[in-house]
Amino acid sequence: MGNYSSKMNLGAILCRHCNTVIDTLDTEKVMFYYLNCGHENCIDIANNQGEPTDDTE
Ligand SMILES: [Zn+2]
Repeated sequence: MGNYSSKMNLGAILCRHCNTVIDTLDTEKVMFYYLNCGHENCIDIANNQGEPTDDTE
């Protein structure tokens, strides 16, 4: 009788660059994780941000 099972995933993994929802997580409260979705534009952005190049052109 106590079949109260909410299957809603409160956690979400978003792309930090384009805000695409990459995946959802079964968490106890609303949580957001930011990763890279893998889109070539986002990879490009990540590469530009991640590599500390001293090229001041
Ligand atoms: Zn993205």
